[in-house]
Amino acid sequence: MARAAVPGRLSWRVARLTAIREETPTARTLVLDTPHWPGHLPGQHVDVRLTAPDGYQAQRSYSIASAVDGDRVELTVQRVPDGEVSGYLAGPYALGDPVEIRGPVGGWFVWRAESTDPVLLVAGGSGIVPLMAMIRARRAAGRRVPFRLIYSVRTPADVYYADELRHRARDDAGLDVSYVYTRQAPEGWPGRVGRIGVARVNTDGWPAMLEPACYVCGPTGFVETVADILIALGHDPRRVRTERFGPTGG
Ligand SMILES: Cc1cc2nc3c(=O)[nH]c(=O)nc-3n(C[C@H](O)[C@H](O)[C@H](O)COP(=O)(O)OP(=O)(O)OC[C@H]3O[C@@H](n4cnc5c(N)ncnc54)[C@H](O)[C@@H]3O)c2cc1C
Repeated sequence: MARAAVPGRLSWRVARLTAIREETPTARTLVLDTPHWPGHLPGQHVDVRLTAPDGYQAQRSYSIASAVDGDRVELTVQRVPDGEVSGYLAGPYALGDPVEIRGPVGGWFVWRAESTDPVLLVAGGSGIVPLMAMIRARRAAGRRVPFRLIYSVRTPADVYYADELRHRARDDAGLDVSYVYTRQAPEGWPGRVGRIGVARVNTDGWPAMLEPACYVCGPTGFVETVADILIALGHDPRRVRTERFGPTGG
């Protein structure tokens, strides 16, 4: 039976927190040891379930930030104000603590290392997480498929993976990284501060005639705006893959 081919893939398993990396004042990467992890594709997510002592449960989705690496799975969680699950994961959740996870989930918003299409990644805030998994998987697979990342953040302090992105933009041949600052730019920034618009997507993305695979991820409003821009610029809607993380997120 088909189900027998993927035993336990979508059942809950207990992972443990083995390391924490603070990405910004409100976001942290959780490095989880997840026994018998079946592997994943970049872009997939997991469901995380918390259970309170009285049996109350809460469940949310979190994208996988890491490329495949044995039983190690990394998530990056942004603490949202009054957030039930993110407030715990990016707060009191401590080294050695267990958490239940289920996955990997998702088969559409994924990048496959054998693909030869140029790739455009457009991230808003925490939407960088699954796109970073694609950048890491490209590197791990030794691929040089052209990748362009446009990453929209409020301020320079809100950039996740800042050092790694700097190194990869320098060392990974064919990877270009550009930033959109919506509230405050670094000193000497030559560009305009403000929300992403047609001009930036047109300049820093790929022309539609190259038929890139486009991945857009972030708060719902951001994703809808960028998808509309891409389609207005002539990109085939079937090549624009989107992942919405939830409310507008400002
Ligand atoms: C496929 C998928 C992948 C995701 N991957 C990630 C990820 O990699 N990292 C990550 O940090 N989050 C990710 N999310 C969002 C995550 O699932 C939760 O929605 C988020 O952590 C808030 O949950 P909470 O329990 O803390 O907040 P809740 O208690 O559910 O909500 C508290 C308040 O925050 C608001 N809120 C809820 N969700 C969001 C949001 N996403 N942005 C801004 N405000 C919100 C609510 O409207 C409410 O006012 C993903 C969502 C999906 C659907």
